[in-house]
Amino acid sequence: MIRPILVVGNPVLRQKAKRVSQIDKSIQRLIDDMIETMKAAPGVGLAAPQVGVPLRLAVIDVDDKITVIINPEIVKTSAEVELDEGCLSVPGFWGRLDRAERVSVKALDRNGKELRIRDAEGLFAQALQHEINHLDGQLYIDRMDTLDKLQRSEPLRRREADEREARRAAGLEEDDESSTKTTPD
Ligand SMILES: [Zn+2]
Repeated sequence: MIRPILVVGNPVLRQKAKRVSQIDKSIQRLIDDMIETMKAAPGVGLAAPQVGVPLRLAVIDVDDKITVIINPEIVKTSAEVELDEGCLSVPGFWGRLDRAERVSVKALDRNGKELRIRDAEGLFAQALQHEINHLDGQLYIDRMDTLDKLQRSEPLRRREADEREARRAAGLEEDDESSTKTTPD
């Protein structure tokens, strides 16, 4: 079941989430719902507080691999690099911030078995840090020096329309109404 994603301003996003004490049926259902919600968004990761559940649990989808982390802890970090980042709870924006290039994480998987993620890199490392921040009530915008650097991401449809307009102006595309017609929303 797809659950609604809370957006910035909702107090649940600012709570320090509690540890999961028992991985029971309701937790399994929550995990399944979070994976479905993340895929539908679509997003690279989703933390339980983002669907209104203040528990230390998150799901990540990088390179077609789903990782479930329960009660995660960052046990090792490398030097930081500058990255672009966005969040499903801060819709319509992205920003640049510094994060560790590599991280090692200790957590439980959905079966309650200990999970060791050693020297995760790239988008996976970024997502691990982003989701674990959510569990402490932190959003990526808190890590930016200034919100002046926050960039607005244009809705895709608008961007496509602008590109089409630019191509047409450059004489690269015929001004044919039938080819630009979109289905009604
Ligand atoms: Zn987020």
